[in-house]
Amino acid sequence: MTITILPADHLACLACGIAAMPGTTETFISIGRLAQPGRPRMAANERSEYFELTRCPGCEQTRQQAAALVAEHPVVAHRLGTAAVERLEAGLGVLRLLGARTPRLTSARDVLRFVDHMSTAGALVRWSRRYTPVALSDAQDEDCNEAPWEHATEADRQTARDALAGLLAAVNERPAPIPCPDPSGGCMLCGIASVEALPSRAAHAWTPATANPSPLGGRPSNKRLSGHLCPTCATACDTVGSIGPTAMERALMAALGVRRKSLTPTELVGLKAWAVMPEASPNRRPWGHIEHVEALRTVLA
Ligand SMILES: [Zn+2]
Ligand SMILES: [Zn+2]
Repeated sequence: MTITILPADHLACLACGIAAMPGTTETFISIGRLAQPGRPRMAANERSEYFELTRCPGCEQTRQQAAALVAEHPVVAHRLGTAAVERLEAGLGVLRLLGARTPRLTSARDVLRFVDHMSTAGALVRWSRRYTPVALSDAQDEDCNEAPWEHATEADRQTARDALAGLLAAVNERPAPIPCPDPSGGCMLCGIASVEALPSRAAHAWTPATANPSPLGGRPSNKRLSGHLCPTCATACDTVGSIGPTAMERALMAALGVRRKSLTPTELVGLKAWAVMPEASPNRRPWGHIEHVEALRTVLA
């Protein structure tokens, strides 16, 4: 890697590191200097330093692309907050470093998945890493790359390639059945034996939970039940804030695909969670242990 000296009136590009005429500048703060074996500690090690960086025209375009995508998909800003553009820009920088094509970014889901896989690697390989959070022992204000991304080490490039490989694997994967990890074999509420999820998300498909039997329609007992919830039932319990009749109602409505949120007392009688059914085997369809569940759908629809 060849670090060279900035021409007069230029600043280094915060992403690829080449000299650029300053447009918008950004200030990066180092909280100290990285010690280097065999070299005296620089006085600057003890204090913060400020470094001004800018963007070259190519990386400015990447920034604009990130801003446009965030503007186009409000869900992205909603989920990622104020760092949305920053994180997306960092991820897109990885593509520039590798000379890779931009994968499909047409839906909010595409964008969020992209950020999920790429933004950390992106932040690690940018030129600004020379200065922040700690400055390299020999980093100076007037440093820049002779050619874009020349500062990136082989390890940086491998990090970038791994991130992109992870993204492409996630883009191409298809949902598969993920069985309930509980020995009893079913969701505590609806009793379903397995759910469809992306294999890479398999560890998050089922949510461990504990509950008292009586709010679930079981005999009162001091013994707490423990098991797992499928995503539909977990969301219902999350929304309600506890595992009991209200959450069961919601979970049942969601599973039946009907919009009503409340059952009449008559309908509610006999609504039992699968976990309190003695010796019930796991269900192939949610709430299969409830008598006339299909009839209930018709009544409620
Ligand atoms: Zn650049
Ligand atoms: Zn369930």
